Amino acid sequence: MPIGIVGLGLIGGSLAWDLRSLGWEVLGVSRRSETCEQAISRQIVDKASVDLSLLAPAEIVFICTPIASILPVVKRLIPHLSPSTILTDVGSVKKPVVETITPLWENFVGGHPMAGTADSGLEAAQRDLFAGRPYVLTPLETTADRPLQTLSEIARSLQSQVYHCHPTEHDRAVAWISHLPVMVSASLIDACTKETDTRIVQLAQQLASSGFQDTSRVGGGNPELGIMMAKYNRQELGRSLYQYRQSLDQIIAYIEAENWTALTKILEQTQQARTHFPF
Ligand code: NAP
Repeated sequence: MPIGIVGLGLIGGSLAWDLRSLGWEVLGVSRRSETCEQAISRQIVDKASVDLSLLAPAEIVFICTPIASILPVVKRLIPHLSPSTILTDVGSVKKPVVETITPLWENFVGGHPMAGTADSGLEAAQRDLFAGRPYVLTPLETTADRPLQTLSEIARSLQSQVYHCHPTEHDRAVAWISHLPVMVSASLIDACTKETDTRIVQLAQQLASSGFQDTSRVGGGNPELGIMMAKYNRQELGRSLYQYRQSLDQIIAYIEAENWTALTKILEQTQQARTHFPF
């Protein structure tokens, strides 16, 4: 039985490619016909179309469009599916997606592969993008076992580490490790651009090395993704930003007061805390 992918971009294209290599027949649907033609010619999918009816025989469908398009796509897709089809999405925010899709489709489980790059579109698709990365599935208490187990097996076959959690827990956790870092990194770049001496700006650009490269990477990515995070995870992102501002104010206060003991204590704590993250 085939797998369907809607939205042949970075995530959808990478997923299609890996699943096809694992032996699945992959049917792809995207918005533009050029993307569909490219996906076929690069052998990322078996068949592709701009028409959702292509997915009628699919056993499992992954919705990989931008978050704003997930609900409209699902509404247009449903008339083509058999009731046993398992539906999932890869959106970076889960609560609004799960809340709106669950009443429409019994065999739906929200998902989020924690992998990506700064690029977008099918050109950016790559093999093994999900290997060694977490893949979160966000079932509700009412979610049936069959779709959850099937999707967990597929995610494991991509060499991902599979986690299950509630959509609200997911959104709060990713606010800390994904959405807050984007805003912090963007504000770092923004603050640098506020330097008024153009000679200093030029010198800073010439001297920038690995530290600035690391800390500016996520803030210098696709603006659409940042907007989606802020729009769809506004509450949790706001909560983490307020805490971040408090932490920053604390650090400013210690530096202004030349309180090196307190600053050392914070930096020792952060050095230790970072070891609890898996890299
Ligand atoms: P992307 O590279 O821009 O890919 C999305 C693709 O969806 C576009 O290339 C577009 O293809 C297609 N599309 C747009 N609207 C559509 C529609 N109405 N019907 C069918 N296809 C449509 O974006 P992405 O980074 O892969 O993100 C896709 C999803 O993955 C988002 O929900 C995002 O939250 C999630 N996600 C992203 C990352 C990341 O780091 N990028 C990580 C995890 C999850 P055309 O070329 O046909 O226009």
